[in-house]
Amino acid sequence: MPETDVLIAGAGPAGLLLAAELALAGVRTTIVERHPERPPYCRGFNLNARSLDLLARRGLAEGLVAEGHRVPHAPVTGLPGPLLLADAATDHPFSLGIPQTRVEEVLEARALALGAEILRGHELRSFTQDDDGVTSEVHNGRFRSRYLAGCDGGRSTVRKQAGIAFPGVDARWFALLGDVECELPYGPSAGPDGRSVFVIPRPGYVRIVVREDDPPSDKDTPVTLDRLQAQVDAVLGRHVELRAPRWLSRFGDAARLASRYRAGRVLLAGDAAHIHPPAGAIGVNVALDDAFNLGWKLAATVLGTAPPGLLDTYHEERHAAGERILANTRAQVALEEAGAEPWADLMRRVAAHPAGNRALAEIITGLDACYEPGGHPWLGRLAPDVPLTVSGTETHLAALLRSGRPVLLDLTGAFASWSTAVDVVTASSPSTSDIDAVLLRPDGHVAWVASSGSGDAGLAEAVRRWIGDVPVPDVSLHAAATS
Ligand SMILES: Cc1cc2nc3c(=O)[nH]c(=O)nc-3n(C[C@H](O)[C@H](O)[C@H](O)COP(=O)(O)OP(=O)(O)OC[C@H]3O[C@@H](n4cnc5c(N)ncnc54)[C@H](O)[C@@H]3O)c2cc1C
Repeated sequence: MPETDVLIAGAGPAGLLLAAELALAGVRTTIVERHPERPPYCRGFNLNARSLDLLARRGLAEGLVAEGHRVPHAPVTGLPGPLLLADAATDHPFSLGIPQTRVEEVLEARALALGAEILRGHELRSFTQDDDGVTSEVHNGRFRSRYLAGCDGGRSTVRKQAGIAFPGVDARWFALLGDVECELPYGPSAGPDGRSVFVIPRPGYVRIVVREDDPPSDKDTPVTLDRLQAQVDAVLGRHVELRAPRWLSRFGDAARLASRYRAGRVLLAGDAAHIHPPAGAIGVNVALDDAFNLGWKLAATVLGTAPPGLLDTYHEERHAAGERILANTRAQVALEEAGAEPWADLMRRVAAHPAGNRALAEIITGLDACYEPGGHPWLGRLAPDVPLTVSGTETHLAALLRSGRPVLLDLTGAFASWSTAVDVVTASSPSTSDIDAVLLRPDGHVAWVASSGSGDAGLAEAVRRWIGDVPVPDVSLHAAATS
């Protein structure tokens, strides 16, 4: 039976980034993907500012940004104007138009280059877990692994087999989607009764989206070109020919969240852990966010260096994020349907106010992510990519995290003795005058921060909590400063 440290089911954005993160840490990783090849169609077409900030911590954003096109606002549903990113708390104040398939190609190449194995045409059917590991039945064989990650999409076999509940709400409506060619203009085309057909430009074709009247009881019934054509004609009240279908599908506004992101040695990430309405075009981005949070924690657990409870913080942090994402996407749908409701008018006025517009942009893209609210403004947040000078060389904060290891950024030169516990980088920065030092988790979130003169008080606790049982200096800078 082939053995690996982590078996991942699913080679979508979540599975591929998770594999790359695990392989970066030296963890043996195998992905089993049921499709023999990547599908010929493309679902998503954007990376948001938060995803670009995260990918930049591994040096992966720059190449994607060079390929895609920048849009200075965040996708949103239900508001009349855009949510501007110019002043948002991000190093990438834009959304990036880029096919999901291209992002997957880049992540796959990285995972393979780092030593992960990707087995296409391998469908995970079932698994059992015991005290030491997981035995997975793939349709053409068995695997033994220490952990199993279900990155296998909204209908996740892993989630179901792990007995993890998936509470939420069923879809109230369905829409038909068609990647086709036609003569309709980009944007909404309204019919005589006010309903619309939406036409989104895509490279060499258009994506048609139209609400479906009388969806079939079996929502998996394949969508045909005739079905889409009839629906478009019914809404427009005239015939507009649809040609050359590339992909025909149906989606709804169901919203569900896994009750647990971890069940013993089994973990969930991406759509396997949450499904939600398509508002805000957030799915790929949340999948990447989950994988980036899980990767270093699972790697440390497999390698035996993780402090107790580290892996459980994955559920704590990302399940809470999932709750917010379901609320945000459902709120956008409600806003779209609210018409002249007073609360919807209030939301539109908030969005029209510069501060409200910025806040909504940060909330909807996840830029407001803070895993430890209430302390120093940096604590729990993704540290900004401030410029740094290290040993006379100009660099920037994100570049310190390329190796995927935690870093103590020392901005005073007083923390060298902490190198027994963590990689210490001594630097100066014009942008951090009130900060002496920052402990960065491998995902770039701030685990501890020292304001001017506070020494290393609390650093040992933060190291034990996030890095593990490593030797810390005998004499604390705090004690030295106050004695
Ligand atoms: C029409 C449409 C448009 C969208 N547009 C956007 C957008 O603009 N922006 C955005 O961010 N998101 C968008 N999304 C959402 C986005 O596509 C998903 O949220 C994202 O792909 C989730 O990534 P994932 O890795 O969790 O799951 P998936 O991408 O679904 O990957 C799961 C993988 O697991 C495999 N798999 C399933 N079961 C098994 C099994 N038993 N064994 C082995 N492999 C298995 C599947 O074949 C698949 O490759 C869109 C979705 C749709 C449907």
